[in-house]
Amino acid sequence: MSNDYDLLRMSKVLKKHLDEERYQHTLGVMYTAAALAMAYGYDLLKAQAAGLLHDCAKGIPDEKKLSICKEHNIPVTNIQEKNPYLLHGILGAHLARTEYKVEDESILSAITYHTTGRADMHILEKIIYIADYIEPMRDEAANLSRIRKIAFHDLNECVYEILKSTLTYLLHSNPENIDSTTQDAYVYYKQLHNLASSD
Ligand code: FE
Ligand code: FE
Repeated sequence: MSNDYDLLRMSKVLKKHLDEERYQHTLGVMYTAAALAMAYGYDLLKAQAAGLLHDCAKGIPDEKKLSICKEHNIPVTNIQEKNPYLLHGILGAHLARTEYKVEDESILSAITYHTTGRADMHILEKIIYIADYIEPMRDEAANLSRIRKIAFHDLNECVYEILKSTLTYLLHSNPENIDSTTQDAYVYYKQLHNLASSD
């Protein structure tokens, strides 16, 4: 039941596991997720719980990320093994379930896919994927103000724009290590974008 999430208690535990900057980012994602949930009529508490917990595994050292995956039989792809930061989504969902007692599958999958995105996301996955990119402390992306505006009137178009920017960036910085989930997501949301613009 969504009323069971004690955001204050969760945030106190999280504060101990994240550095100050990551913790402030986490609060930014939580409030941005709440604002998006208001705009699209989604459960505010679930959106905030997912936002609060999305990076809960971010503070785990890379070696430990890999050993926890091994210990719990969480499959690790070649690309994840070379880039263990990609595992903080799936490990975050694992911690959310085991340490923060979250059972809601939509929250757990929103945490799992917040870094890569995926094709055909449900609304909470899109809200967290977007909130992570646009929260107020983010300032690195050039087109942020345009993407922030799109976020509040078209979730699919916003996801498409973020995937496009992210893949462009990765193609320049780290082309051999692009997660196939992100590529599949891009193909899916580009198709929706093309359909919408051909109307
Ligand atoms: Fe993250
Ligand atoms: Fe994040």
